[in-house]
Amino acid sequence: MKTLGLLGGMSWESTTSYYQCLNRLARERLGGQHSAKLLIWSADFAPIAAMQAAGDWAGATEVLVEAAKALEGAGAEAILICANTMHLMAPQVGAAVRIPLLHVADATAETLRAAGARRPLLLATGFTMEKAFYRDRLAVAGLDSLIPPAPARARLHAIIFDELVRGRFEPASRAEVIAIAKAAVEEDGADAVILGCTEFGLLVEADDFSVPVFDTTEIHARAGMDFALS
Ligand code: GLU
Repeated sequence: MKTLGLLGGMSWESTTSYYQCLNRLARERLGGQHSAKLLIWSADFAPIAAMQAAGDWAGATEVLVEAAKALEGAGAEAILICANTMHLMAPQVGAAVRIPLLHVADATAETLRAAGARRPLLLATGFTMEKAFYRDRLAVAGLDSLIPPAPARARLHAIIFDELVRGRFEPASRAEVIAIAKAAVEEDGADAVILGCTEFGLLVEADDFSVPVFDTTEIHARAGMDFALS
């Protein structure tokens, strides 16, 4: 089994999900006492979130590039950035190491296409929904992604940064996320929902929605285990 390098702590709430998911997959696929071979770099999220909010993407890139190099130096054989938003700097991080960077949007697009989805609603941070880096990647794979209207985007962004990354999972926020998706399905023809923030899987469940749901944390972890066992 190959060793995966996780860039985590963004936030640690969802890094915990990656850790559990990767280990569960290793057990499912190899059986017995097997578990995932992982190196985890885990950020203090407050300074990262401050850089995101200030638009200091160069500063955030520097942090992730150094962390990825450290994981490679420690023996990681592939890098996973355990957050959708931070894939904004995936090109620079990938170029700074010799090992592959397994991109969350590519793994997600492949999974949606295999499931026959074409018009997914992307639920994520404002950065991931509004900047081109993520939806362009989905478009290259033939997916016509939708994002919610501006007020709903602002609510999703606030739920992520004011609640989820702080470990707060409120029933009222869960209901809001479900209502936002319902509107996109009924009014805009969304045929799937992408949980494009790695913490969303801790707030909502597949049964909350009337269309298929794709949790990027699970999909990304699965892509990581596929690589590790290849
Ligand atoms: N974990 C999140 C994501 O998947 C949000 C936190 C961040 O902005 O890095 O985008």
